[in-house]
Amino acid sequence: MSAAALAALLIERQPCVVLTGAGISTESGIPDFRSPTGIWAEVDPLEVASIQAFKRDPERVWGFYRARIGVLLEAEPNQGHLALAEVERRGLAQAIVTQNIDTLHSRAGSRDVIEVHGSIRAATCLDCRWTEELAGVLAQLEERTAPLCVHCGEILKPGVTLFGELLPSAAIERATDLARAAALMLVVGSTLEVWPVAGLPLEARSFAVVNRGPTALDRRAELKIDGDAGATLTAVVNAL
Ligand SMILES: [Zn+2]
Repeated sequence: MSAAALAALLIERQPCVVLTGAGISTESGIPDFRSPTGIWAEVDPLEVASIQAFKRDPERVWGFYRARIGVLLEAEPNQGHLALAEVERRGLAQAIVTQNIDTLHSRAGSRDVIEVHGSIRAATCLDCRWTEELAGVLAQLEERTAPLCVHCGEILKPGVTLFGELLPSAAIERATDLARAAALMLVVGSTLEVWPVAGLPLEARSFAVVNRGPTALDRRAELKIDGDAGATLTAVVNAL
């Protein structure tokens, strides 16, 4: 019933932009951050995932991040990622704005993916702005605890947005433009707690939420489905 209602909303409210968070990737075996079993229940993000921590002790940040990359590269896209790729193929979603760094949307076949918190695709040098692709980063991590810039020798920074850093400006500007032009933003697997991304649904003319558990904006959503992304989105695609 609610999946059918969301399918009807998708058809009626165009253009639509999708916004995804960690909740869509938990079904691929990737832990989220903020739930009781999430990553931040185990480690303090300010110690391993902040720009201050990186400047203080980059090798510790890379120790955490190296393990993360390993988990993310092992993971496969799930039914939720595949359903969203199908929604895009049918012309019912312009793009996917994602807080996830795992690249699973691209691997599921989505073409226009805006990674507003960066991704594991590359690492960058804060000194000379050199960008090293993932393959080069992994090759260096075989040899040393943190990868170095091939131009200036500084330790590279992971290509993800760390706490205390600004979001990649081109990505967040495009995401904001898309949200402002959208008749519907479909939010999947985000508790809408991390700003400024959490404010994007409020920029769209309306928004719907698919998430297991409450979100910060449930009361303002046009439609809320409390459920897992994979089963819910598969049902939505079948109802289109
Ligand atoms: Zn450099």
